[in-house]
Order: sequence, then structure tokens, then C-alpha cells
Amino acid sequence: MSHYRSVIIGTGPAGLTSAIYLARANMNPLVIEGLEPGGQLTTTTEVENFPGFPEGILGPELMDNMRKQAERFGAEFKSGWVDDIDLSVKPFRIKVEGREEITADAVIISTGASAKYLGIPGEKENVGRGVSTCATCDGFFFRGKKIVVIGGGDSAMEEANFLTRFASSVTVVHRREELRASKIMQDRARGNEKVEWALNRTPLEVVVEESGVKGLKVKNNETGEEELIEASGVFVAIGHRPNTEFLKEQITLDAGGYIAVHPGTTETNIPGVFACGDVQDTKYRQAITAAGSGCMAAMDCEKYLEGSMTHDWSETLNP
Ligand code: NAP
Repeated sequence: MSHYRSVIIGTGPAGLTSAIYLARANMNPLVIEGLEPGGQLTTTTEVENFPGFPEGILGPELMDNMRKQAERFGAEFKSGWVDDIDLSVKPFRIKVEGREEITADAVIISTGASAKYLGIPGEKENVGRGVSTCATCDGFFFRGKKIVVIGGGDSAMEEANFLTRFASSVTVVHRREELRASKIMQDRARGNEKVEWALNRTPLEVVVEESGVKGLKVKNNETGEEELIEASGVFVAIGHRPNTEFLKEQITLDAGGYIAVHPGTTETNIPGVFACGDVQDTKYRQAITAAGSGCMAAMDCEKYLEGSMTHDWSETLNP
């Protein structure tokens, strides 16, 4: 069993920023990276809004840079899935891949959020065979083909635009008439002549034939009729859910399953456990806000480890 003063779970912009700060403060953090090292930014294309990169930077490159920066100051990395954690004892106990047990005086949780699925027939069973939640990963496979993107938020607009680089056409399927996406993202998609719109359509089924995905069956909410939108690829872009299942109700979560933190801090209801990034953010969910909250978590954690944290918010976060 190895013991660390601080353990960071998750390696998106939040986790890696907290690693940079804690490592630079000589706290030698252990960073545990799961199945998607680098987090959601590794499945995105160009990041245009992270300050400091006037020409933009590729998501994977940005994450790789952050990881190197953390390593440079002495952060230690371990790959593996945290499948069990006990936050009721001190030091906290963390089990990686069911075998290795690690103890920690303080824990920073930055496990982010994962893509949501619709739960319609033909969807999950065809992931990797025509159904995807990651345009950057899979767009290339649909060169010259028709694609459907499901969703009306910024993710759907971003994926639709990106996929027009490969596809002959991209049809955005959204269950309402109004899009949820920000104006700038909507305008960009609406100005793209390869993007077509199937609004007010509820997805019913991913229809498959022998050679692969044939299209998406939808209900036209105006007429009540079923329609088949032909496509070889179906990209689901309906948002994300926080990765908090492994916590097994040991920590206060909000109604959506996100970790509750005391406003303006990264403190959870358990002293010594901090949360940053998308796992606790239902509002901003940007790389830069995740990185900012990672910095906050490291500073809160440092204060806690030094014994100079003067308050305990646990009472205020009880469900
Ligand atoms: P989102 O804003 O929650 O949008 C999800 C979309 O999927 C909504 O249009 C929703 O429809 C639809 N949807 C959800 N469940 C559905 C279901 N079961 N069946 C059919 N449609 C369903 O999620 P997001 O687009 O991933 O964005 C999340 C956050 O990240 C936002 O704050 C966004 O601004 C941010 N983001 C920013 C960028 C950027 O700036 N570059 C890129 C991506 C994401 P309804 O509208 O009817 O609810």
C-alpha cells in the first residue's frame, strides 16, 4: 500500500492544473488517470478559446502540454480505473483496478463527465459500427458519406460543423424547433451549406442494414409521422453526465449527480476532499473554467494539508 499526501483522480484540464499547482508547491501529488487520459479535450478538435493560443491549439496537444508541465514539477502519474474509494476513514483509501490500494491525506476529484446516450434501439450496440459520440475520433471514417448529428446544443453544432470536413452532408436532428446552442455556434452551423436541419424530430431508432448503419428513424413531432433520415453515420451529441458513480453516495451530490461544492470554493461536504472541473460544474463547463477550478482545488488542498483551513462547510452541503 502506498501513501500520498494528495491524490488527484482525473486528468482533464482541472486535474492537470491542480497537479501543476500541487507539484510546484512540493506536495508531490499522485495523479490517477482513467480510461480517457486527458479527458474530453482529447476528443475535441481545435480549441480556439483557451487564452494564450491566438491561432488555437489541438485539444490533445493542449492536454499533453499540461501533463508535461505537471511532470516537470514532480507530479507522479498512474494509469488505472478507481473502482473503490473509502472517504469515511482518514487517511482516505483508494483502490485502483480492484487490486492496488493507495491512501491519501487529501483527495481532489476531477473525473469530469461522459457522453450521454439516447437509449434508443440500434444505438449502443452499434457504437464503433456507425454510431459515435466523438466526431474527432470517428469523422474520418465517413468521408463522402451522409451523417446525422443528434442534439441542439453547442456540442451538436460543433460536431456538425467539424463533420462537414468529411461528410457529403450533415443533418442535425433536434427534438424541438429552437436550438439550445449559443448564437455564435448556431450561426456558424447555419452558415455552413453542408449542414441540413431536421428540427422538431424525436429520434426513435438507429436503423441498420447488412453493410452498416442505414439511417435514423425519427418521429416528426408536427405530423406525428415516422421518417427515415438516411445516413451512414449517427453522432450522438446530447450532453454529458458526471463521472461520480464510483463515489457510491459517499459524498453530497446535486440532483444531476454532480458533486456539490460550497460556492466559491472546491470544498465538498467531506473535509480533505475537493472537487474541480466538469464533475462539479453544471454551468460553465469550459476548459478554462475547469483549469481555473483545478487551481482553486490545489490551493484549497494545500491549505487543508497545512492545517490552516479555518472552516468546514460540511454542514451547509448536507442533502
Ligand atoms: P447541452 O447544452 O445540455 O445540450 C444537449 C442537447 O441535446 C439539447 O439540445 C437537448 O435537447 C438534447 N437532448 C438531450 N437529451 C436528449 C434526448 N434524450 N433526446 C433528444 N435530444 C436530447 O449539452 P452540450 O451541447 O454538450 O453542451 C454542454 C455545455 O458545454 C454547454 O454549456 C455548452 O455551452 C458547452 N460547450 C461549449 C462548446 C464551445 O463553446 N466550443 C462546445 C461544446 C459544449 P433540449 O434542447 O430539447 O433539451
